[in-house]
Amino acid sequence: MPMKIEVGDSLQLKKPHACGGNSFTVRRAGMDFRIECANCGAQIWMKRTDLEKRIRKISPKE
Ligand SMILES: [Zn+2]
Repeated sequence: MPMKIEVGDSLQLKKPHACGGNSFTVRRAGMDFRIECANCGAQIWMKRTDLEKRIRKISPKE
């Protein structure tokens, strides 16, 4: 069953970004996802299947 990931959600990934940040914000959702590193602002494109494997925790937007 696919995870529920929506634009604006915060994600904690199993592997931190190169900058050391471990928190990402979802900027675009679909077949491909665009996530933004909350620490350095870098944007990363990722396939849904790849992203789901990397997620440790989803914090839905308030
Ligand atoms: Zn970063």
